Amino acid sequence: MDLFSQKIKRSELKEGDHIYTWRKQIYSHHGIFIGEGKLIHFVNSGIDDILHFSGGSSGSVMKNKKTPCPVSYCGSEKVAGSGVRMSCIDCFIIKGSLYRFKYEASHEFLVAKLRGGTCSTARSDSPEEVIHRATYLYENGYVEYDLTNNNCEDFALYCKTGLWSNDKSNQGRSSQANMVHPTKEEDKIKNKIHRIATAIPRSCLKRENQDLGVREDVEKVRVEDLSSFHLALK
Ligand SMILES: [Zn+2]
Repeated sequence: MDLFSQKIKRSELKEGDHIYTWRKQIYSHHGIFIGEGKLIHFVNSGIDDILHFSGGSSGSVMKNKKTPCPVSYCGSEKVAGSGVRMSCIDCFIIKGSLYRFKYEASHEFLVAKLRGGTCSTARSDSPEEVIHRATYLYENGYVEYDLTNNNCEDFALYCKTGLWSNDKSNQGRSSQANMVHPTKEEDKIKNKIHRIATAIPRSCLKRENQDLGVREDVEKVRVEDLSSFHLALK
């Protein structure tokens, strides 16, 4: 048995879990499981629709591009254009595997992980608080998508911990984005997904320093106050 494996079966899912799955073996897509086969996740509406990341009767789908998902809520956005969607677990996983993001990971565990976006030393709040945050953001909207500063992993990390950076120049909290250290040449690459896939991974130590449980520039922000807190940083 692989002690480092975070792969889980659907039957092991618990409400409030932060889950992820690999897309094209390149990067992980993250969401919060809220029970009854549903999850809430954050997508970059324009790009992700093209790449069929979110299912739904609105036209996009995952398992089979030609067949819309029959689940009524799947792919829905309560606030149009917010990117915060409710989807069914099938459309989230597509044909991949399901993994549980690990909280309160030891520093050894964090450093041993070759790829970012799988664990944090930070502590998760209760499932009730996590689901409250995810549901509130689904119903009321969220902060604008940014691949390196506010992506699907950042959304799930916030739902789990309530932690948000108070440093406007260092907003990104996702370890997946933080493990990327673009060179000047890479900076010129307009396609950020391609940039993430080809960039040089930062050293484990740098990744550890950016971990949500280690950083000192993050603080608890109530989900009801998040929008005004974030706006005040600008
Ligand atoms: Zn679906």
